[in-house]
Amino acid sequence: MRFKSTRGDARELTGAQAILQGIAPDRGLYVPVQVPSLPFQDLDEIPSLSYPELARRIIGTFFDDYTEAEMTDCTSKAYSAANFEAPEVVPLVKAGPAWFLELYHGRTAAFKDMALSILPHLLTTAMRKEKEDHKICILTATSGDTGKAALQGFADVPGTEICVFYPTGGVSQVQQRQMVTQEGQNVHVFAIEGNFDDAQTCVKNIFENESFNADLLRAGVRLSSANSINVGRLVPQIAYYVYSYGQMLAQRAVGKGDPINIVVPTGNFGNILAAYYASRMGIPVHKLICASNKNKVLTDFLRTGVYDTHRDFYTTNSPSMDILVSSNLERLLYHLAGNDPEETAALMAGLEQAGRYEVPGKIREGLKAFYGGYCNVEDTEKSIGAMYRENGYLMDTHTAVAYKVYRDYVEETGDQTPTVIASTASAYKFAPSVARALGLPEGENGFRDIDEIHEATGVPIPKGLQNLEDKPILHKAVIRPEDMAEAVRRAVTE
Ligand SMILES: *Cc1c(COP(=O)(O)O)cnc(C)c1O
Repeated sequence: MRFKSTRGDARELTGAQAILQGIAPDRGLYVPVQVPSLPFQDLDEIPSLSYPELARRIIGTFFDDYTEAEMTDCTSKAYSAANFEAPEVVPLVKAGPAWFLELYHGRTAAFKDMALSILPHLLTTAMRKEKEDHKICILTATSGDTGKAALQGFADVPGTEICVFYPTGGVSQVQQRQMVTQEGQNVHVFAIEGNFDDAQTCVKNIFENESFNADLLRAGVRLSSANSINVGRLVPQIAYYVYSYGQMLAQRAVGKGDPINIVVPTGNFGNILAAYYASRMGIPVHKLICASNKNKVLTDFLRTGVYDTHRDFYTTNSPSMDILVSSNLERLLYHLAGNDPEETAALMAGLEQAGRYEVPGKIREGLKAFYGGYCNVEDTEKSIGAMYRENGYLMDTHTAVAYKVYRDYVEETGDQTPTVIASTASAYKFAPSVARALGLPEGENGFRDIDEIHEATGVPIPKGLQNLEDKPILHKAVIRPEDMAEAVRRAVTE
C-alpha cells in the first residue's frame, strides 16, 4: 500500500514514510492510493476478534510495509489493559434508541487515545525502519483533547520531543489542567492567544517554512504531526468502526450484511472520515451523520455544497468541535473528486485565498452519503439531562450533540436503520455543563462538579481525571501565534 498527497505531489510513500512526514511538502494530506477491502472472507469473522487483534488486521492492511511482528507489537502495546480501563477497550452500549460506541476509556478519557496510544509505536517503528537519524519533534495544535492524548502518548518516548499548542480560554478547565500538569523530559505545552484555527494554521505554516525546517534539520531535528492530518492518526480510527459492526452483529442489533448508520460529533472531520473509510472497505453503512455544534460550517456545507469560513466563531460547551476549518475534509473531497489532486488543490486554494469554495456536481453527488446537522449549547445540555432521566445513561457534551442531531435526523427522515453513535469523551471532562444538565447545584469549579456528578450518578471517574487538582502546574507559557515557531526552536534546541 502506498500513500500520496491530495494536492498532486507525485511521490508515493510507504506507510512508515507518510507517518514520519506528517504533512506532504505541497501542504496536501497523505491518502491511500487505493482504499483496500476488509481483510476478511466474511463479516462474521469480525465479532470473534479481540480489539487488539482486529486493530492489527485493519491497520496492517493499510500499513503493509510493517511486518506482522512489528504491527502486533504496536497494537498489543497500544490497546493493553495498562492503557484502557474497559476490558473490551471499546464497549458498545445500548441506551435509548441507539448504540453508543464508547471510545473514551483510554488514559486521557477522550477518543483521541484510540489513535494516540498507538501513534508513538507506529512512529518509533517507522524511525527504525527508515533509519531516521534525526530526533522527531511532534507539533500539535489542539482544541482540547488531542493535546493531552498526544502528551500522554509521547512523554519520554526516546528520540522524540513534543510541543502542544492550545487556545487560551478555548478548552475546558479539566482539559487545560490535564495538559499543564503533564510530566516528561520531552514535553512542551503552550497556551496561544487565539482560537484553534489560529493554532492549526500556524502549525501548518511552520511545517511549510523551508528555512526554519532546514535550520532544525541541521540541529538534528525533524518535524512531524500528531494531528489528524497525519495518516498514522487516521488509520487506527478506522478499526473501531469495523469493530462496532462486529459488536452490532454480536448483540443481534443487525443481521449479517444489514446496514447501520454512524453518527459522529465532528470538528476536524478526522473521526467521521475514518467511518467513511470503514464503509468504503466494506462495512455496510446506510448514512454517515455528521453532527456539529453552533460552529455549523459542515452542516451548511453538506446541505449546500458551499464551504464558507466567513462567519462568527463561537466558543461552546463542546470545545473540541469549535473549529471552522476542518482539515480532513480535504481527503474526502479528493476521493469524491475521483482521486483528483488538481480539483482538490484548486478547492483548497480557494479556501486559503478567499476563505470559501463551492464543490462541483460530482463531489456533491458523493456527499449524499452524509447527512449534516447541528445542535446549539442549550439543546446539548437538554439532551444530556433527558438521556440521563429516561435511560440512566451519562453522555458528555460532544456525544450529546451527536445524539440530538441523530434525533433530528430520525424525525426528519423516519429512518429506522440501527444506529451507532461515536461517544467521544467522558462526561467528567466537561463537568460544569454536565452537572448543570443534570440539575446539580453549581460547584465552585470544574473539579467540585466532578465529585457532584460522581455522587449523583455513581459512574466511575476515569483514573486520569482523579486528583488532577492536586498535581503541580508545570507549563505556564502563554504566547502569540506568530511566536510559535520561535517557541518550537527553543524547546527542541535549548
Ligand atoms: C476531537 C474531538 C471531536 C472531533 O473529532 P474530529 O476528528 O476532529 O472531527 C469530538 N469530540 C471530542 C470529545 C473530541 O475530543
